[in-house]
Amino acid sequence: MQVHVVGAGPVGLMLTALLQPVERLPVRLYDKRREYTRTRMVQLAPYLVADSIESYRADPIDGDSVEAIFDPSELDRGLAFRQSIAPDLRALLRDWVLGFCPLNSIERSLSDLIDARSPNGVERTAAVMTAEDAMAMLQPGDVLIDATGSRSLLRDHLVPGSGKVTEGANTVTVRLEYALVITFLYGQPYDCNEHCKYYKNIENARYKFIPMVQRTHYDGSVSHVTGIVNISAEEYEAMPSHFDGEWLRSNVPGVAESMDRFIDKIKDETHGEILGELEIVRIPLDLYRARNATNLQWLEGRPSDHPFTRSPVFLAGDSAIGSPYFQSISLGFECSMFLAGLVAQQDVTLREMLERYELYIYKQWLRVYMRSKMIKHNKDLFESLDDPLALLDKLHIY
Ligand SMILES: Cc1cc2nc3c(=O)[nH]c(=O)nc-3n(C[C@H](O)[C@H](O)[C@H](O)COP(=O)(O)OP(=O)(O)OC[C@H]3O[C@@H](n4cnc5c(N)ncnc54)[C@H](O)[C@@H]3O)c2cc1C
Repeated sequence: MQVHVVGAGPVGLMLTALLQPVERLPVRLYDKRREYTRTRMVQLAPYLVADSIESYRADPIDGDSVEAIFDPSELDRGLAFRQSIAPDLRALLRDWVLGFCPLNSIERSLSDLIDARSPNGVERTAAVMTAEDAMAMLQPGDVLIDATGSRSLLRDHLVPGSGKVTEGANTVTVRLEYALVITFLYGQPYDCNEHCKYYKNIENARYKFIPMVQRTHYDGSVSHVTGIVNISAEEYEAMPSHFDGEWLRSNVPGVAESMDRFIDKIKDETHGEILGELEIVRIPLDLYRARNATNLQWLEGRPSDHPFTRSPVFLAGDSAIGSPYFQSISLGFECSMFLAGLVAQQDVTLREMLERYELYIYKQWLRVYMRSKMIKHNKDLFESLDDPLALLDKLHIY
């Protein structure tokens, strides 16, 4: 029996590191990249290292949803799994939840941890996999996990059809907005609550910069600020995918002026300086899920000799669910913990395994859907705070 993990991004690596200590489950890990170079800073949720239900539900936006969606016994099992994670991996998780950290440092530390462990049990292959390659290598009883990210290799193949694969047929997408994600480092400790977000945007009528502020994980005196500015679909179309502060100033002066006002107010308060340049990407903020996160439909369909009728296939990370507002990796890690626990269990039938993962992923989808809609709704209200009639239009009380 072999576990094949396709995609060694943060989620594929996490799954591999979680499964590595299970001796009877050798892992083959495939990725097309040979180096980890993505410099984006990411934020991980403290619930990943929670040791009690209270700390797991501490998030002010979705603490109540967690209680409504999950049974207490499910939450207990999740917490027990966390306690069983190998100390080397647990130490990394604890470090990452302290603040923003570079995505490539998460990827490199996981990759190094996997390579350094002994006995090792992980075989790594650098290759661009195709769906056909993945199907061909799958022997009866093997486990296949697709962790290839938002453009998932296998998502569209999980539903049996007439042989033709329809792109997007297995994906539900909700577009929340178009946004600029603007990032900078600030050379002083700085914190920002909702009052601060309001006050620092008070003269920004059109473009409000809504920051997510935290220390960086390695240095408490440097604050990492990543924020979102809502833009129109037309503005989105007219911009390159990445640019800097200078491009912003010359081409979208309205946003640049809002940023200047925001940053000047931070400086007035804490007397620090911006370290380096503003980094800006423009992205559509989409929330999506795979309708089928496993090959359960192949088992329930007509008998066939297709490899997906004999072995479990799972989507993990951005392959299964994608969400904006800095929560996707945490969600991917959370689902990895569940999946690693499930795959390692010996007394579960194939169908039971797939059904349990589908249900779990659906619950995580409900959680992230509600959390994301709540964030978007709060942002919309915030942007109309100075215009009571526009605010009332967005309330829809009953
Ligand atoms: C601007 C920006 C800011 C973000 N900030 C945050 C944040 O603060 N917090 C957060 O949680 N998330 C954040 N995210 C989202 C986060 O980066 C993703 O959710 C995360 O990278 C998904 O991890 P993954 O392992 O599922 O997929 P990926 O990171 O996409 O990894 C997929 C891997 O599969 C490999 N692969 C793909 N296809 C193949 C193939 N055919 N054969 C072999 N290998 C293949 C790729 O090389 C890659 O290594 C942000 C995203 C953006 C764009």
